[in-house]
Amino acid sequence: MRLEMDSLSENEEFARVVVAVFLSRLNPTLEELDDVKTAVSEAVTNAVIHGYGGGPGTIFIRAAVDGQEFTVEVRDDGVGIGDVARAMEPMFTTDTAGERSGMGFSFMEAFMDQVEVISAPGQGTRVIMKKRIGA
Ligand code: ATP
Ligand code: MG
Repeated sequence: MRLEMDSLSENEEFARVVVAVFLSRLNPTLEELDDVKTAVSEAVTNAVIHGYGGGPGTIFIRAAVDGQEFTVEVRDDGVGIGDVARAMEPMFTTDTAGERSGMGFSFMEAFMDQVEVISAPGQGTRVIMKKRIGA
């Protein structure tokens, strides 16, 4: 499944629902469905807010199923991340307005089995997440 959409906060719900419908073929529990939706939300929100700074851009989502393993990738071509390990630390945020808690990546890691972030300044960001359904 591939989805390309404008970087708008109103598209976050759309992305969550599309991914959830795609995932439903694996007969997930409601909890598994919620976990995946939350993780996708966090990644899409990051692309909108941090990747494109609230400005125009395109967000790419890919999802795939291999046996019981579900993979979803959220990609932006935005500003990228200089220090990925630091960005992924709990409570690390570059937000200075005090609106963000810096827990997005921590939630993704808590709700998915595996989270890989590939990013560099000016190169955009790819967040690849995996979860075994019905483990
Ligand atoms: P919260 O998710 O709790 O609202 P947050 O977005 O700051 O706060 P994380 O989602 O954990 O926290 O992200 C940590 C930091 O990583 C962000 O503050 C930002 O600097 C950087 N970051 C995350 N995603 C991206 C992205 N797609 N493009 C550029 N920078 C990003
Ligand atoms: Mg975040």
